Amino acid sequence: MSTKPFNAFAMAQAQFDKVADSLGLDQATKDLLRHPMREYHFALPVRMDDGSVRVFRGFRVQHNDARGPAKGGIRFHPQETADTVRALSMWMTWKCAVANLPLGGGKGGVICEPHNLSMQEQQNICRAYVRQIARDIGPVRDVPAPDVMTSGQHMLWMRDEYEQIHGGQHPGVITGKPVGMGGSLGRTEATGFGVVFTVREALKELGVRPEDTTASVQGFGNVGQYAIELYSQIGGTVVAVSCWDQADQQAYTFRKSDGIDLAALRKITDRFGGIDRQKAEGLGYEVLPGDAWIEQDVDVLMPCALENSITGENAIRISKRVKLVAEGANGPTTPEADHILQERGIFVIPDFLANAGGVTCSYLEQVQSNMNYFWEKDEVLGKLDVMMTSAFLGVSEMARKRKLYMRDAAYTIAIARVAQACKDRGWV
Ligand code: NAD
Repeated sequence: MSTKPFNAFAMAQAQFDKVADSLGLDQATKDLLRHPMREYHFALPVRMDDGSVRVFRGFRVQHNDARGPAKGGIRFHPQETADTVRALSMWMTWKCAVANLPLGGGKGGVICEPHNLSMQEQQNICRAYVRQIARDIGPVRDVPAPDVMTSGQHMLWMRDEYEQIHGGQHPGVITGKPVGMGGSLGRTEATGFGVVFTVREALKELGVRPEDTTASVQGFGNVGQYAIELYSQIGGTVVAVSCWDQADQQAYTFRKSDGIDLAALRKITDRFGGIDRQKAEGLGYEVLPGDAWIEQDVDVLMPCALENSITGENAIRISKRVKLVAEGANGPTTPEADHILQERGIFVIPDFLANAGGVTCSYLEQVQSNMNYFWEKDEVLGKLDVMMTSAFLGVSEMARKRKLYMRDAAYTIAIARVAQACKDRGWV
């Protein structure tokens, strides 16, 4: 076993290097794309509730903006590091490119533990953050969004501080804002629905009707619940779903072989996506161990909870019937497990394609904000469907033509698009 600590940026660069070599990119393009174009590290002096001042550290990294303004979330996390933010900003560049959005990649973070901060202190951090970066973000430069432990409220404080500094109204400076304050309808559904738009297209390619399929889902939060909603609407049956139980500090899988009842389960689920075990038993669900979701005899697996959940150890327990894995979560499959899926010929919709519905809807929010004209939910979701379907078809066509694994095809398309934009601009 390696004793080297895991470094997300080293991993992102290694992934890039592999594709860059297969694409035959020239040295200058490689040098440009394996590092962020710009990064900002700053101190955030913040007034605390007890009157003292505490200095936090903040980052904003703009990996590449050849295809459009940088786009990516701002995380509040005690273990935030510059390298994590660099890696996430690079992944955002590829995600926006594979979804064919006219956006680049960025990411931000503040080293802090929001659980130990009052809302007033969090507001002070948001405003201090924007005071440091207000000249280097903006609707045509870099557009942040919520991420781990930040919400629509944080985004609204940031928008407000930006407008205090620059004057005027600039709703397009940030996305993920509350509806009515520059937010978009459909954002709540966007990621989960986006996963299923790609599942629907993949099933077509596999020649299987959704009505004839069953699925097992890991995670019953924002992504999982809306993925289940749309998958059921197109005719599929979800027979198992797993989630984390906060009281017991372990995960459980809830199974009903004739199909779970989404509305009934939602009623007994807390706001963190935890299903009440006793009540579920009362509704006739079998309660199984947390990782049982992966060994169900189904056609489709949708990991929609967290990273590293399909591993070399448990991938061998995946049923022979499974034809499709749609990665709703970020990084759910370890490289070892990925190998197993590939060897077994399972169709994988990779995370940065499957869950691109979130950023695609953020793009639609930005467009609406810049026009100051907001669409009905159906219009947003209709555009989301068209964009996700077209992104999926681009990748699957590349996979078919070049006989590539879907993940490699998605990386190839994304990196080639960004490299081409850099070349067309005359940068390299
Ligand atoms: P969430 O917090 O709303 O829900 C997470 C769910 O996972 C909860 O039901 C929780 O109980 C469950 N869970 C946690 N640990 C588990 C475990 N060990 N076993 C089984 N279930 C477990 O989060 P979300 O917004 O639904 O995001 C889920 C994943 O999707 C994350 O990887 C996130 O980065 C990714 N993602 C989310 C969005 C978005 O728009 N929400 C966009 C892109 C990617």
